Amino acid sequence: MSIDDFERYPLTFGPSPVHRLDRLTAHLGGADIWAKREDCNSGLAYGGNKTRKLEYIVPDALAQGADTLVSIGGYQSNHTRQVAAVAAKLGLKCRLVQEKWVDWDDPGNETVGNILLSRIMGADVRLDPAGFDIGIRRSWEDALAEVEAAGGKPYAIPAGASEHKYGGLGFANWAYEVQRQEEDLGVFFDTIIVCTVTGSTHAGMIAGFAGQDRPRRVIGIDASATLDKTRAQVARIARHTADLIGLGRELRDDEIVVLEGWAGEEYGIPVQSTIEAIRLSGELEGMIIDPVYEGKSMAGLIDLVSDGTIGPDSTVLYAHLGGQPALNAYAGVFAS
Ligand code: PLP
Repeated sequence: MSIDDFERYPLTFGPSPVHRLDRLTAHLGGADIWAKREDCNSGLAYGGNKTRKLEYIVPDALAQGADTLVSIGGYQSNHTRQVAAVAAKLGLKCRLVQEKWVDWDDPGNETVGNILLSRIMGADVRLDPAGFDIGIRRSWEDALAEVEAAGGKPYAIPAGASEHKYGGLGFANWAYEVQRQEEDLGVFFDTIIVCTVTGSTHAGMIAGFAGQDRPRRVIGIDASATLDKTRAQVARIARHTADLIGLGRELRDDEIVVLEGWAGEEYGIPVQSTIEAIRLSGELEGMIIDPVYEGKSMAGLIDLVSDGTIGPDSTVLYAHLGGQPALNAYAGVFAS
């Protein structure tokens, strides 16, 4: 088996753009820094990393004859917004469990940004007071049962589309896409920086890059603040995905790198380094990143390049996974 043996339902514009971050590179004065932009990968409600994952999950949903996509996330989940968009595009219904993953008292948290977009796209959005957990949740299983009891045909998509048999394929495919873009651009990215929470983005990349000839570092920056769970989930999904795409060998432990230090104490709460990273990429590059995910991975990149952990001879690819709509629920952070 290889990645090409899996059916992909196109939801993106095609390969996502790759470009150099000239002013950030000059400012940090070390490694050469580039970005690959999943934040503008699709016309479906601003796209993002879940849109790529869903390309490999939708064929299974259609084959099963599902009429309702059922998923779960926080109030400001980017994932559920992308599931709502895909359901709209396919003419399916969408049932979303939105848990109170973040103890964030901005009045817009339940009304603006991602949740607003999901409502606009016709999803049945239900709030649930449960806190953050990347695992399988009772409320989601209940939602699936309710859809079924009402005569519907639910299709289960777990948080972040991660704990799904095909959850890692979207970013295994990304790894091959990077390889093709490198050939066109005449560059080689020896280091990839990616934000990781529910794990299948990072896991898919590990599996996809592992089969390529030139080794590289794929550094996951934890934004979950529940590091052990995220690390275990990344390892599990990476090994499963490697198996699916026929890697033909076991992934080594040293290929699965999730670093801590930038998540802060709690998922979804920006810390000083997050806010500085958001301002820096905005001011230097006009590149907007969010306070829950990409602000944290960018803070990691800034520190690792600044302290020489990623050396000046490196060429780094920053995976921008989307997520900007959530910024609307964090306006107060930037009010002064
Ligand atoms: N970045 C953004 C914008 C996200 O929405 C997510 C989703 O959780 C991530 C990063 C992390 O991806 P994953 O959950 O696959 O680890």
